[in-house]
Order: sequence, then structure tokens, then C-alpha cells
Amino acid sequence: MRRALAAGNWKMNGSVRQLDELDQIAQSHALSGIDILICPPAPLIAPAVARTSGSALRIGAQDCHAEPAGAHTGDVSAAILADVGATHVITGHSERRQDHDETNGTVRAKTVAAWHAGLIAILCIGESAAQREAGSTLDIIAKQLSGSVPDGATAENLVIAYEPIWAIGTGLVPTLDQISEVHACIRAWIDQRLGTETANGVRLLYGGSVNATNAAKIFTLADVDGALVGGASLKAADFSPIITALENSAT
Ligand code: PEP
Repeated sequence: MRRALAAGNWKMNGSVRQLDELDQIAQSHALSGIDILICPPAPLIAPAVARTSGSALRIGAQDCHAEPAGAHTGDVSAAILADVGATHVITGHSERRQDHDETNGTVRAKTVAAWHAGLIAILCIGESAAQREAGSTLDIIAKQLSGSVPDGATAENLVIAYEPIWAIGTGLVPTLDQISEVHACIRAWIDQRLGTETANGVRLLYGGSVNATNAAKIFTLADVDGALVGGASLKAADFSPIITALENSAT
């Protein structure tokens, strides 16, 4: 039985004041049977951890450096993230792959760094619109998995988020069949490479324009264990119904 996960990615949005939203989420879902995570920008992690201490809400990061420490101005190590109370880190988000030329190799190294610091990695993969139109989605997914999932992945240290690039922040969402097909392919890949126990345990999130209207249907899919949510995670009023939909699907 996999524990469902509702994860919010604030990207480069938010403020100390906006951490008020976390109080509302924590209060509304105090008895939640699922995992709830918010990944704010790095400077807001420590205040977010302080703010949510004693609640079921977990705080994660959006990126980490592959090295444990050193002369990397402006970067943040996984160890520092863990030190200030983060429990998870997103690796390989398509915006980082695009904006910072992160390759599958980079993502793999960052994921290993996350594990060394005791963080759970939420590793993102997904095809572009052109790749989907060319019919190469499953090949791309398999390539990203082979290149970016490190040896040593377990159900405890890895979550995989399928995020079609064309669905992120666009309001476009794949059909339920398309999501099912990719998630089944990811689970089959894990089964083949890492064994059945790991395949049965690793949580697979869908991400890309999830909102209060479409969430419940997406959560009915057998291989979808939750969501990685961008825009709709910024306000409790938007994120809370998504969390509720996941709670309802998990019971
Ligand atoms: C994301 O950035 O991971 C994401 C899924 O964004 P949105 O929900 O806004 O499409």
C-alpha cells in the first residue's frame, strides 16, 4: 500500500507573508492520512519549517547542488537543506533542465546528493510537446529513467513525478489514458531495473496543470499516487481541494 503524496512546488513565488497559507493547509488537513509537502523557494524553507513545526505538513526544496559543500556561489547543498529541516527535494524539474541545462547525468548526481543528506528525492521526468506529437513519449521516458535514476533507489528514498512539459502551467492536461500509459511504463521500468518490491512501493506523482476540477479523476488512476502541483499550490484555497480529492481517493 503506497501512501499518497500531495506536493506543492511554489517555484520562484511566495514571501514570508504568504507562509500564512501553510497554517491554513495544516489546520484543514490536521488529521490527513496522506503526506502533504510544500516546496517553497530556498530562503523560505527555514521559516516554513518553523511555521509548520508540530503539524503534519512537510517542507521540501526545489533543487540542490550535486556536491556536498564547496565553492559554488549561489547554490545550496542537500546537507544545508536537511539541516534547516527540509525532508524532500525536487530533482530534474523541466524548468531546471531547460533554464540551467541540467542533463539526466546532473539529475542523477543531484538525486544521489539528496540521498546522502537523508532527503527524499522527487525526480521529475516528462516529454515535450514535439516529442509527444512525434510518438516518442515512452522512449523519452525510458531514456530519462535510465539516465537519471541512480542505483540504490528504493520506495523510501525516491518519488517519481511524471510531468509532461507541455502540461506545466498551460492548463493543458493529458487524457487519463495518456497518464495511465506513462505511469504504467514507469512502474514497469522500475520493476525491470530495481525489482518488484521497489516497483510496488515507489510513489508516482502526476504533475501538470492539476487543479481542483481535474484532480479527483486523475487520482482514480491505479498508478497515480498523488500530484506535484505548481500554480494551484500557492493558495490554500486552491491546494486544499486537491489535497481533499487525494485523501478521498486514498480511503
Ligand atoms: C510544476 O511546476 O511542477 C507544475 C506541475 O506546475 P503547474 O501545476 O502550474 O502546471
